[in-house]
Amino acid sequence: MEPLYVNKQDYPKSALIMTHSLPDGDAVGSVVALCELLELMDIPVRIVMEDVLPESLEWLRDDRFVKVSEVRLNQSSMPFDVFVVDCSDLSRIADKSELFTQARTTYNIDHHVTNDFFASVNQVDGHASSTGEMIFRLFQVHEKPLTQRAAEAIYAAVSTDTGSFRYSNTSSETMRLAGFLIDSGIDTAAINAKLYHTKPLDSVKLLGIALDNLIMTRGGKIAVSHVLLQQAEAGEIKNYETDGICEFLRDISGVEVALFLKETAPEVFKISARSKHDFDVSRLALHFGGGGHTRAAGFTVTGILEEVRHKILEQIVLAVGQS
Ligand code: 5GP
Ligand code: MN
Repeated sequence: MEPLYVNKQDYPKSALIMTHSLPDGDAVGSVVALCELLELMDIPVRIVMEDVLPESLEWLRDDRFVKVSEVRLNQSSMPFDVFVVDCSDLSRIADKSELFTQARTTYNIDHHVTNDFFASVNQVDGHASSTGEMIFRLFQVHEKPLTQRAAEAIYAAVSTDTGSFRYSNTSSETMRLAGFLIDSGIDTAAINAKLYHTKPLDSVKLLGIALDNLIMTRGGKIAVSHVLLQQAEAGEIKNYETDGICEFLRDISGVEVALFLKETAPEVFKISARSKHDFDVSRLALHFGGGGHTRAAGFTVTGILEEVRHKILEQIVLAVGQS
């Protein structure tokens, strides 16, 4: 990776770090690790985040996190640079776009194959397991030692985006990085417990609803499920966290493609798509205006459930026919 700045004279007076809405482990881990690196370079920095974090990631939040309305830009902090991490396009930081457009230089550090190079400096590596792994390389490029917090944040990023080092994006480099992080002295058992053993009861109840709604189609190769807003409400579910449900469906023997349709507003469905071997879900997501990776992607479709499901299944059949 290229250094962020070649000379000290190029450093900005301050920096803001952002990531996509509904941030996952890679997003939150990467913003924290990058924040540590910029502080080691003596650049005043804040993380701009509006989102409520899932309980599993709350331990990564600290007092450097601010809301858009709390960003104070004055003479001493101008000009500032903006770093967007783990985000494939600008629509996913729409609530922060005003700050983005005011920046001196904008950076896009990401590993999504669908990234559209939206910034003035784009460091995009579709082969990296996670954005966290790329932030680690930046520590090396800048010859800065990892702080404990950076090591913990990078571990969280890499572990969550690789499905605990199981998915095909886990390279030997990823495993060496994990070994290096363990050797640095972080308590991985404690981090894993926070990441994976703190599921809200509501999210487990949602998995139950999703399994009730499961449809197997195309000879058992496609698993589709959904949760409707009214079903969640009927189950008195306040915490509408559905992370991991789509992976659960993909785990079914024989399934090649798993789809999970989550109603986020009346007749608005946020879709998670996962594949096991060959099918490229990032292309499916792009077709519907979303994005992601070959084996994990997401997008939004509006309409009634049956129509939405039909549209997506039809597109998969078309794509398989063309390949
Ligand atoms: P998830 O299904 O867990 O929300 O997302 C899976 C992957 O697809 C993640 O890497 C995520 O960043 C990406 N993704 C999910 N939804 C969208 C979307 O609406 N637009 C884009 N560009 N990427 C998405
Ligand atoms: Mn990621």
